[in-house]
Amino acid sequence: MNTQPMMKDPTIEAMLAGIKAPNLPLEMIRARVAEVYGLTGEWKQLGGEREQNFRLTIGEGAAFVVKIAAPTEPMESLRFQTEALEHIASVDPGLVAPRLRRTLAGEAMSHIFDKEGVSHVLRVLTFVKGTILFDQLQETGRSLNAEDLIALGRASGRLARALQGFAGRGASSVMPWDIRSGLLFSPAVHAHMPTPIAPLLEDLLPQISDVLSNRLPKLRAQVIYHDFHESNVLVKLDPSLSVEGVIDFGDMIFGPVAQDLAVSVASLIHWTPDPVFAANCLVRGYQRFMPLEQDDLAILRSLVLARLLLQVGLVSYQTAVHGRQDDDLEALQALYIRAILKLAAVSEPDFVRGVMPSVVPTSEAVAVSPTASAPALLERRQAVLGRTYMFYNEPLELVRGRGCMVYDAAGKDYLDCYNNVANVGHCHPYVLDALTRQASMLNTNSRYLHPEIVRLGERLSATLPAHLDTLIFVCTGSEANDLAVRMARMISGNEGVVVTENSYHGNTTTVTPLSLIDYDIKDKPSWVETVPPPNLYRGLYGQDVNDAGRKYADHVTAAAEALAARGPGMAGLMIDSIFDANGALVPPPDYMQLAYEAAKKVGALVIADEVQMGFGRSGTHMWGFEAFGVQPDIVTMGKPMGNGHPVAAVATRREIAEAVQKQTGYFNTFGGNTVSAAVANACLDVLIGEDLQGNAARSSAWLIKELHGLMQRHEIIGQIQGRGLFLGVELVTDRTTKGPAKYAARWVRERMKVLGVLVSSTGPHGNIIKIRPPLVFSLADAARCVDALDRALSEVPADLRSAAA
Ligand code: PMP
Repeated sequence: MNTQPMMKDPTIEAMLAGIKAPNLPLEMIRARVAEVYGLTGEWKQLGGEREQNFRLTIGEGAAFVVKIAAPTEPMESLRFQTEALEHIASVDPGLVAPRLRRTLAGEAMSHIFDKEGVSHVLRVLTFVKGTILFDQLQETGRSLNAEDLIALGRASGRLARALQGFAGRGASSVMPWDIRSGLLFSPAVHAHMPTPIAPLLEDLLPQISDVLSNRLPKLRAQVIYHDFHESNVLVKLDPSLSVEGVIDFGDMIFGPVAQDLAVSVASLIHWTPDPVFAANCLVRGYQRFMPLEQDDLAILRSLVLARLLLQVGLVSYQTAVHGRQDDDLEALQALYIRAILKLAAVSEPDFVRGVMPSVVPTSEAVAVSPTASAPALLERRQAVLGRTYMFYNEPLELVRGRGCMVYDAAGKDYLDCYNNVANVGHCHPYVLDALTRQASMLNTNSRYLHPEIVRLGERLSATLPAHLDTLIFVCTGSEANDLAVRMARMISGNEGVVVTENSYHGNTTTVTPLSLIDYDIKDKPSWVETVPPPNLYRGLYGQDVNDAGRKYADHVTAAAEALAARGPGMAGLMIDSIFDANGALVPPPDYMQLAYEAAKKVGALVIADEVQMGFGRSGTHMWGFEAFGVQPDIVTMGKPMGNGHPVAAVATRREIAEAVQKQTGYFNTFGGNTVSAAVANACLDVLIGEDLQGNAARSSAWLIKELHGLMQRHEIIGQIQGRGLFLGVELVTDRTTKGPAKYAARWVRERMKVLGVLVSSTGPHGNIIKIRPPLVFSLADAARCVDALDRALSEVPADLRSAAA
């Protein structure tokens, strides 16, 4: 304790002077209660700072608390408490709190005169049975674990929720324990602050003062309980903690919800080894009942510190100035001091790191860290993940996304023209809501009956040709293609698979050989056969070749023959409907029909890989293959299906799915789990509800027109390819020789990043700028993309323009 001379604060003195419990003779009270309430029984004195309290036990265990208020207690404040209790009882009868007992005449309150004839308000409440949390913790020596804290947070949030619709306003006088009372800034309180925290005040108080005067007053306010601490909460440990009831509504005020939460956090975090984690748990629990905003969370640490400092300061003051002795409070002081020291060392954002506001904030509220952490983070990454491929010459540290925008650690915004996974837009609040709701309800595998997966299956099936009536859910596109190959092999009795050169279909042991961009074609196993991609710009048969569709499709027949001759035979033809790895191709109109026919003729199954093009990206159809009027035997889908959540599927005919189940069975622990199904359903809701396929069509039409405009001005553009919101801008050294301008493409990609637009450079020769944004891509987004591309193309250095791959 500080050894300063005793220093008094007149405001505190006045406030404390107002807090004094009356001391009326029991006989008098007993008679009055019998008279006005008709209650008699056994009386026991209870403690109380501002009221004289008794427990009155009557027969069969029923018990009441009789409360006599000090004459100085404002009537409005007593009425406010009484009405609040009645409100809680009516809106949330399951919440255990004292219930008001009315007088025989039906009055909410009565009164009693002391010997001097001074009137005191008399109230009777039901006695809430149970064990006080503080006693329980002392007795068992137990600390609070995460589950306990979430349960406590829930109870506190539930109380806030119950009070939300209460119209009372409470007393106008400010109570000392209210962090807004100003007492925290009293020099007399500082003078008595315990030694370990006194040196922190200089740093902490200005921050707290700023929060209290500039930020707290802007937050949502209502009547709040404002006193959720270990001595007011009744619990059962059996073996996990459940809250049985809450007592003592004397500190209720009209105040910010964040302040209510802060009191709960400040009162409970010291019962754990890690107060920051404890705060996190309490917040999560609180949010189950009471939504919290970004602004509530953003100042929580300051509010909690304010409350802890006020608590420690006032108790130290009272001990020093008034000789107050309270062993329980003294024991708590030490714990509070420890919590303050820990919190002082944590930043405001770190205090709530990991908790999300209930209402997802708009993108304006992007977290900006003053120093980008990229170089150090890259080193740490390489130390644990090795030197794996990353985008861009200088890796980009993205910290946040919204719609088509993503933001880096330094706060710079980028238009995302690359990520089709975030199909309905990054962090779509509707999808997030579905995800968090389902995750907090149940997440388990598809071997239990649940409506979400059934609904998802029904909805997907309704978008597909009628014969594709059965869905099997998996987690990734690779798994979907792997299973599709297994099906094709099982049904056809053959082993071989035909894919286009330079294709990509995934990463499992089975489908890696079908991903020719990952290895040298010379090394392909004997069961893989390739066909040339139907590229009319630089392929085997160009725009000018008659019957190019048939010519390309004839290669499928040739591949089938080669596989038959070699032995494996042809089990399946797998086609990515946009030929992504070949730079977004639109084949000759009859190609797909003819290629499918060629495969079916030899008893092979056709697998439409919709991992890239599915879910409305073409703008014209839900599935990429539909534009060609073909009927695949199997459709695989993934990437955009969960907007970033790993969920994928195989759709096929019933007999194919059943054959697999019969022969080997198929189970995927995470495939189609309850949360994935809810997320995928939410993505469909948004896709349909926001007409994103229609948006893709509109934005794509405009974008294609503008890109052709750029082509007029930029000789380096050789070709615009693709469809819908999956476009490739092919750069060439010369339009006649079509030399692939790979280095220029890389340069453009990097330059566009600097200009705040994310694209990739791709294709077999690395010379194609790929534009594949989320489907919420607006015309304004398209304009920003075109502007950046225009500028980057104008600036390509001369030596790179002529350097071919
Ligand atoms: N098929 C295609 C056409 C793909 O583009 C990809 C991924 N890029 C996959 C399959 C594999 O999907 P995943 O990465 O989810 O395994």
